[in-house]
Amino acid sequence: MYDLVIIGAGVVGLSIAQYFQVERHWQCLVVEKEEQFGQGISSRNSEVIHAGFYYATGSLKAGLCIEGKNRLYSYLKRNNLPFRRCGKYVLAPPDRTSELERLQTQGRINGVDDLEWVGGRQVQGLYRELAPHPALHSPSTGILSVDALMHHLAGEFRAAGGDLAVKTAFTAMTPQGEEYVLTLTSTSGEAVSLPAQRVINAAGLGALEVAGRAGFDYKERGYRLGHCKGSYFRVPGARRKFHHLIYPLPTPTSLGIHLRLDLQDEVRLGPDVEYLPDGIVDYTVDPALEREFRERVREYWPKIDGYDLEPDWAGIRPHLFVGSKRYHDFHIVDERDAGCPGWVNMLGIDSPGLTSALAFGPYINGLWT
Ligand SMILES: Cc1cc2nc3c(=O)[nH]c(=O)nc-3n(C[C@H](O)[C@H](O)[C@H](O)COP(=O)(O)OP(=O)(O)OC[C@H]3O[C@@H](n4cnc5c(N)ncnc54)[C@H](O)[C@@H]3O)c2cc1C
Repeated sequence: MYDLVIIGAGVVGLSIAQYFQVERHWQCLVVEKEEQFGQGISSRNSEVIHAGFYYATGSLKAGLCIEGKNRLYSYLKRNNLPFRRCGKYVLAPPDRTSELERLQTQGRINGVDDLEWVGGRQVQGLYRELAPHPALHSPSTGILSVDALMHHLAGEFRAAGGDLAVKTAFTAMTPQGEEYVLTLTSTSGEAVSLPAQRVINAAGLGALEVAGRAGFDYKERGYRLGHCKGSYFRVPGARRKFHHLIYPLPTPTSLGIHLRLDLQDEVRLGPDVEYLPDGIVDYTVDPALEREFRERVREYWPKIDGYDLEPDWAGIRPHLFVGSKRYHDFHIVDERDAGCPGWVNMLGIDSPGLTSALAFGPYINGLWT
């Protein structure tokens, strides 16, 4: 029998699997409904290692982002995986600098004490094309290749004896004494029953569905995972023009349409915010969004109109709602109160879920000890 079954092989499931199999020597199985790991949210995001200054003090997001960032930088370095601690600037129009101060204070309370205040002239000294707005510089923000990270985690997990079953969906669960009997169904429709000591639901956009199939009544209690789509546009002419990430002030729903770099120095703008109808997954990028993108980005990069924009790709954030109210934190619960100790549901693992990935395993282990 497996000590632990993890449902979902995105960066979160793989990180947790690597932690329990490699560091704690538990016998683990990861089940993934797609043909390959990492085909969901994890392959469609900004690939930014966040510093941790946006999130409410005391929230899981604040704690796990900072813990995850530290673990991620050492893991990437130790294993020679590609990343760059490029830093980022958050720009604010002069009449909104109090919002930068608020971010800096929030960061300090959260333990991010390297944020520096930068004047508009200094910003223009760095990049003449940017608006001369005051900014907050975050030197510990960085970028990575999620694909390389996931391949390494999966490789280590398997080399340590962990099992990964792809084209296998979790479809039902029956508690049996202190164990869980899981029904796993292959893409060809064959179903098998498998006992497990403990289970973690890390199914991303499918996490609420998985919880429901396991008999947890979140949907009946008004929980909903909103599909919040974010599109990106590429700016081919701006390649190598920037060496830092450039962000506007955050909004209540997102960090704003930012200038994102990848490790090849390609520049992309995104993501915007578009709620899809319930359950819909649609990754097409509407070229008509270009106007709205230009308008938003012009506020901090007035010279954007000198560049062509190409529709690129989109990702979908799993935004958790309880009733009509957005639940802004990660929801990670051991279901002992529902009579299922050892079963953990992870709901609403949106940004900074990638940055936090390596902190989830130790956190869940703490719930169990
Ligand atoms: C546009 C966008 C930008 C973002 N930018 C950043 C960023 O810059 N930095 C950051 O830290 N975070 C960022 N995030 C958030 C981050 O990408 C996610 O938090 C993280 O990737 C979530 O990973 P996951 O493993 O939970 O989900 P996924 O990668 O979706 O993995 C879940 C897996 O579960 C599988 N699954 C579902 N149902 C079942 C089932 N019944 N049985 C078996 N398998 C199942 C799915 O196929 C999927 O592979 C961003 C997200 C988006 C959408």
